[in-house]
Amino acid sequence: MSERLSPDHKRAMGQAAQAALAYREGHDTRPARPDISLDAAVARFAGPLAEGGQPAQDVIAHIVRDAEPGIHPMTAPTFFAYVCGASHPVGVAADFLVSAWGQNAASSTESPSVTGMERAVCNWVLDLLDLPRDSGVGIVTGASVANFSGVLAARHVLLKTQGWDAEEEGLFGAPPFPVLLGADAHSATTAALRYSGIGAGKVMRVATDGEGRMRVDALRSALERCEVPPLVILQAGQINTGAFDPFDELIPMIRAKGGWVHVDGAFGLWVRAVPELAGRLRGVELADSWAVDLHKWLNAPFDAGMVIVRDRAALVAAMAARGAYLPDGTEHWEPSDSTPELSRRARGVPSYAILRHLGRDGVRELVRRHCELADRIATGLRALPGAKVMNDVHCNQVALTLGDGAQGDALINRVLERVQARGKVYPSHGAWRGRQIIRISVVGYAMMERHADLLVQEIAAALAAEG
Ligand SMILES: *Cc1c(COP(=O)(O)O)cnc(C)c1O
Repeated sequence: MSERLSPDHKRAMGQAAQAALAYREGHDTRPARPDISLDAAVARFAGPLAEGGQPAQDVIAHIVRDAEPGIHPMTAPTFFAYVCGASHPVGVAADFLVSAWGQNAASSTESPSVTGMERAVCNWVLDLLDLPRDSGVGIVTGASVANFSGVLAARHVLLKTQGWDAEEEGLFGAPPFPVLLGADAHSATTAALRYSGIGAGKVMRVATDGEGRMRVDALRSALERCEVPPLVILQAGQINTGAFDPFDELIPMIRAKGGWVHVDGAFGLWVRAVPELAGRLRGVELADSWAVDLHKWLNAPFDAGMVIVRDRAALVAAMAARGAYLPDGTEHWEPSDSTPELSRRARGVPSYAILRHLGRDGVRELVRRHCELADRIATGLRALPGAKVMNDVHCNQVALTLGDGAQGDALINRVLERVQARGKVYPSHGAWRGRQIIRISVVGYAMMERHADLLVQEIAAALAAEG
């Protein structure tokens, strides 16, 4: 085989790049949700694998033709569902290179440029979020793995203080430590407790206020019941309300108990990047570890997130596959010493490109704009008959109910279905404080006032159609 690309492979790569461009330029002309059902989409790709292969360009042409109707326009500024970033174009462009280069990002010596860019990303994010600059950082697939990794670092330290080596001895027979979690924590944190062998059922749930923030008095009494230093998982950005736990009050109490504070800041931690909004998370910098996504508010292409651990040695002790090993404290660190994966793609590189493209000002503008748009949407929705915005707008999340009780819940579900079927915008469902809600998240890099206004108009129109 020649060292050069075959004409077929070359055409396939060019075709994919062209199709990617056409797709991203076509958002205005396509509905805001997939055109075909799951069954129809599955049928397009089902069937036995053929004995003979197909030319690469035919394969790519087939994928473009048959997949596009079932591709959800999550990159469009009309996608308000869940909390999904919109894959910023400069990140996508860099991601093309990541795939083409095919670097195994595990080794700094084997792929020095990737390590260079990923270290820059780690340093820039620590700086933007104003977290301890010499923290250990692992670039992982997202906040789920970041939470898991943070919990493993905490497990290492909390068991070590009780004289137990978690990595070597495992958890059979280990001395227990208490785990405290807010009543409105994201399911990813309970998943982290399952995976880490701590057990989701061992958790003490701590009561929250109307916005989903951990209550100070509730934490105080929970801490009083802790006989050994606990793991406490706090939250920056509740999924329905966007609320932040009162870190400056909670963390010193946990510290006084010798506990470990982990913060799930999947999207909300980015509010720290905006000086005039950073006070909403006052004290979050006092924690021991943080999970934050790159593929949500920073709009990195999926999938990318970070685990940040103040004591780098604790992260490395929990992650390094080579067993008892401590970092030498110099600038030199191996990417694979900070993540559960060994082989992995260079998933930090798209974020390098996005941060360099936006600069500090651009990141601030992005987060600030989204918070302003969420306010604008909430104001617009409050004017609709029977509508109630359940949350204070802490950042970029809006939780809408209609009417009262079961009738109101049925109404909002019908309205949401109608909004989605109209195909102009796409918010999602949710449940909050016993009510069905339309959950709105402002996170796509291209969202502007006109998209926010369109969302409000579409909900108004769907509500009007109910009569
Ligand atoms: C999205 C989210 C997670 C999970 O993150 P993934 O990137 O989907 O793994 C965890 N916590 C919160 C608060 C989130 O919003």
